[in-house]
Amino acid sequence: MAIVIIGAGLAGAKAAETLRTEGYDGEVILVGAEQEPPYERPPLSKGYLQGSAELGSVYVHDPDWYAGQRIELRLGTAATAIDPAARRVTLADGSSLPYERLLLATGATPRPLPVPGADLGGVHYLRTIADSQALRAAFAHGGEVVVVGAGWIGLETAAAARQAGCEVTVVDPAPAPLYRVLGQEVGGVFARLHERHGVRFRFGASVTELRGDSTVREAVLSTGETLRADEVVVGIGVTPNVELAKNAGLEVADGVVTDASLRTSDPAIWAAGDVAESANPLLGRRIRVEHWANALNGGPAAARAMLGQEVVYDRVPYFYTDQFELGMEFSGDVTGHDEIVYRGSVEDLEFVAFWLRHGTVIAGMNVNVWDVVSDIQSLIRAKRPVNADRLADPGVPLAEV
Ligand code: FAD
Ligand code: NAP
Repeated sequence: MAIVIIGAGLAGAKAAETLRTEGYDGEVILVGAEQEPPYERPPLSKGYLQGSAELGSVYVHDPDWYAGQRIELRLGTAATAIDPAARRVTLADGSSLPYERLLLATGATPRPLPVPGADLGGVHYLRTIADSQALRAAFAHGGEVVVVGAGWIGLETAAAARQAGCEVTVVDPAPAPLYRVLGQEVGGVFARLHERHGVRFRFGASVTELRGDSTVREAVLSTGETLRADEVVVGIGVTPNVELAKNAGLEVADGVVTDASLRTSDPAIWAAGDVAESANPLLGRRIRVEHWANALNGGPAAARAMLGQEVVYDRVPYFYTDQFELGMEFSGDVTGHDEIVYRGSVEDLEFVAFWLRHGTVIAGMNVNVWDVVSDIQSLIRAKRPVNADRLADPGVPLAEV
């Protein structure tokens, strides 16, 4: 009987690949709602959106790689139901697939903007290749772009829009970009970077209405201000695609709940990537991570667990971004921090920021400083108090702090 993977994104594709590299010889079926073979999303808001990366570079594997590995791709076909008792998945085309073990890698869907006028033409979301192509074409016309949400999508598309020559205003109810992830102080680094490149912000404000005839022309803000808007980009977060799991009676909280081996409440079903809310022994709690590295590593970890290997998925959460001249990597989780220590120059955008709780490093962000992620993650894993002066001193190797 087969191993079936629902969701042909990065987590699903990497899981299928790992089943083969680990020697599994049975049937592997990868079911995807999109027509595209599995692809990586980070270039869709960066190089591909800006026109510096080719479409071919975004795919996880060449389309013919799957046949060569005897991985059956069922694309353009959503799974519509799981019957855990019968171990069977129903697909939108009416067919059904029996499984011995099942992986849920269904990812997440952009949250819709809940205001009048949100269905006008010129209002964009960014999740798929087609979305990125539409945005790229829209930015090529120049004009005024209003970005709703100063999160990852908001900041990266604001940078791409400025680089394409558009005027850009970003609107967010929070007091700084990436406020929930980085806090006000470090979020401010991103605000200043964007402002230097001509991006305008409206913090403490939300879009209450979009106006236009068939296409958007204006965005009305909660402050009473009206912004001209030739294009609107909505990046106000995502919701994990948990419906299949919920309807099948699996335990679902913010995402599909798993143990540290990525196994769900059903012993024959695992979950990985954006959709999974997994017990992380390092952090001592369940987390759901909506970032590339978690799909890249979580898919393979789930595959190994499905093959009966001992798996403890306890990665330090990690993500990265590139915006204008700022490249950064982030490790950990800032929740509960009581101190921030900087090493290097924030002004020159060449530094590492460390978040500490009771003198212990819980997160670190390296900005235009490279090859330090494993040292930063070792500090987080060590869970021991550090000397803040030595942490701030670039002369002290991180491994010796
Ligand atoms: P997804 O990529 O969402 O793939 C899930 C797939 O499952 C989708 O193709 C979906 O259509 C399919 N599916 C859903 N339901 C069903 C169903 N019922 N049946 C069949 N198929 C189904 N992270 C970073 O760390 N750094 C970055 O720079 C970065 N940039 C990003 C840029 C963009 C534009 C976006 C959208 C995301 C970015 N991310 C980044 C986040 C990262 O891409 C995601 O965390 C990652 O894609 C999650 O992979 P996944 O396989 O879990 O889910
Ligand atoms: P996000 O990172 O969660 O950011 C959404 C932002 O919008 C938050 O700042 C949020 O504030 C704000 N917001 C919420 N409701 C709003 C409203 N009504 N009006 C204005 N702002 C509002 O989500 P995203 O930027 O949409 O990204 C989507 C997904 O892609 C995420 O999973 C993200 O991790 C991923 N992604 C990652 C990267 C990267 O890692 N470099 C790049 C692109 C995309 P609150 O936090 O206060 O709700």
